[in-house]
Amino acid sequence: MQEIAAGVERFRREAFPPREELFQRLATTHTPDALFIGCSDARVVPELITQREPGELFVIRTAGNLVPPHGQGADGIAASIEYAVNALGVRDVIVCGHSACGAMTALASGTDMSHLPVTASWLRHADASRARLDATGPEDGDRLSTLIHHNVTTQLTNLRTHPSVARALARRELTLHGWVYDIGSGRITTVDTETGATARLA
Ligand code: ZN
Repeated sequence: MQEIAAGVERFRREAFPPREELFQRLATTHTPDALFIGCSDARVVPELITQREPGELFVIRTAGNLVPPHGQGADGIAASIEYAVNALGVRDVIVCGHSACGAMTALASGTDMSHLPVTASWLRHADASRARLDATGPEDGDRLSTLIHHNVTTQLTNLRTHPSVARALARRELTLHGWVYDIGSGRITTVDTETGATARLA
């Protein structure tokens, strides 16, 4: 904790002054361009991997970058999505999975989750991802990577059930994006939101 407190002091002393004008503007305005939905994993830092400044990304982070479908009672996430789309008018939503995801590893390997009942219940929002994995394979070491990619498309499907997103998509005011971030290389693979096809992000 001492290191965190020292970091706050260093932020005030070194990082804040060069951006003082930005922070003065941000004190009264909030106009992010995009909603970034990523995993809570400490290694996936949205602003760092996209090189965004404060105020540019509206961020939701959940275990496994899961987005419960509309009407399933996960109100904090639903409210954040609605606020980003309806109130802030973001033009793009990125759902970003990542390599070595603990949540996806547990699902891919069938880990006993009986000591983590809340987590096990939460991970049911990825049941469709695992079902696709079980139906189509592979059986080898690519299982985790395949599940991570399937899960991005599953969560994009869930995202579309939120009325604010459905409305903005119908009006062509919003674009959805699927990404997978590789921790070891820093590279991002895009996942086609319709077909699931992957490509390197240019
Ligand atoms: Zn993760």
